Amino acid sequence: AVRTRRLVRRFGERAVLKEIDLDLAQGEFTALLGRSGSGKSTLLRAVARLDHGVEGTGELVVPERVSLSFQDSRLLPWLRVLDNVVLGLRGPGTRARGLTALEEVGLAGRDRSWPHELSGGEQQRAALARALVHDPELLLADEPFGALDALTRIKMHGLLRELYERHRPAVLLVTHDVDEAVELADRVLVLEDGLISLDLPIDLPTPRSRRDPRFQEYRDAL
Ligand code: ATP
Ligand code: MG
Repeated sequence: AVRTRRLVRRFGERAVLKEIDLDLAQGEFTALLGRSGSGKSTLLRAVARLDHGVEGTGELVVPERVSLSFQDSRLLPWLRVLDNVVLGLRGPGTRARGLTALEEVGLAGRDRSWPHELSGGEQQRAALARALVHDPELLLADEPFGALDALTRIKMHGLLRELYERHRPAVLLVTHDVDEAVELADRVLVLEDGLISLDLPIDLPTPRSRRDPRFQEYRDAL
């Protein structure tokens, strides 16, 4: 679904991404780990083709339908929940698709609410609905659960994995939470010094238990 070759991004003199070769298979759930400032968001923007400052002597191949949820993205406060979800969609059936997406994330009946009337977790659900309504072949998610409390975060993990299994897009999930990466992804990449320093396949049955000794082995390897 995704292929980059020698993807480079410099800010001034400093190369934040140094020749990234990234391959994501169709339907593969990949997590991208890395310290703050390592370039995770920069890589996501580049893959989404939102960054015109990207250099590369190689190639950048991405599917047609890509959804990106931004790290700091919230819903637009002046639009009701449903209007946020279907933003950018056109044509007949738009409303119905939005309502279906809201139902899928457990927000049936909240379509006419304003964003500020939703809890943090509900807002994240609506953001997921907004990403899914486009039926993406590739879902790029930049720390979607960063601002949530631990319990809501765990619920959102379950929901994301469930939605993934139903729709099977390729997923690239940015996080700096090792447990989150091992819990959700089938493959974990680590971005360090502008390069992918580790590429670890995760072979665990779902649902995954953090108490599984193999979970701990993967965790320790990261
Ligand atoms: P975090 O985990 O904190 O979100 P990150 O891994 O997503 O970090 P990026 O946002 O990709 O990090 O930033 C990587 C580096 O590139 C940082 O040092 C940042 O200061 C720099 N950077 C990002 N965008 C710009 C920009 N528009 N101009 C200059 N420097 C930038
Ligand atoms: Mg970031």
